[in-house]
Amino acid sequence: MRLSGRIEALTARVACRPAAGPAPPKPDWTRDRAAFLALVTEALRERMAARLDEPYGQDSEALSSWVGAPFARWVPAPAPGYRLPEALVRWVLEPPRPFWFGHHCGSCGLAVPLVLVPASDPRPLADLRAFPTCPACGGRTSHAANDRPDAPESRQ
Ligand SMILES: [Zn+2]
Repeated sequence: MRLSGRIEALTARVACRPAAGPAPPKPDWTRDRAAFLALVTEALRERMAARLDEPYGQDSEALSSWVGAPFARWVPAPAPGYRLPEALVRWVLEPPRPFWFGHHCGSCGLAVPLVLVPASDPRPLADLRAFPTCPACGGRTSHAANDRPDAPESRQ
């Protein structure tokens, strides 16, 4: 089959594919920010709001990803009144180094930060995990826990 024929066949197959369900909601920073700040204890809420409103910096992308997804994808919406662990919020308010939210708790799905260390860093760290165990429930944190709550890494 010629390339143009293959492209036409693929296009026809994709066009006939049924929709997988309702489209996910579009990101809305104002809505996501308000919902996220409701998860922060009142004592730290104002400081976190100020942190989120800082000009673009080295942690901005990590913060915006946390606001949009403070839990793993398999976690249902938190119960009314749920608050993020203060230890986690305090760490993010004054992080010792740049970070990103690359780990989740294998038990409750809470997103937790990993420290970013460039290869040329004169102060390398043996452990990049800010929270090897979940500050909310004590579960093991891992990269795989974002996809599977029972990830093998979470049971080691
Ligand atoms: Zn947990």
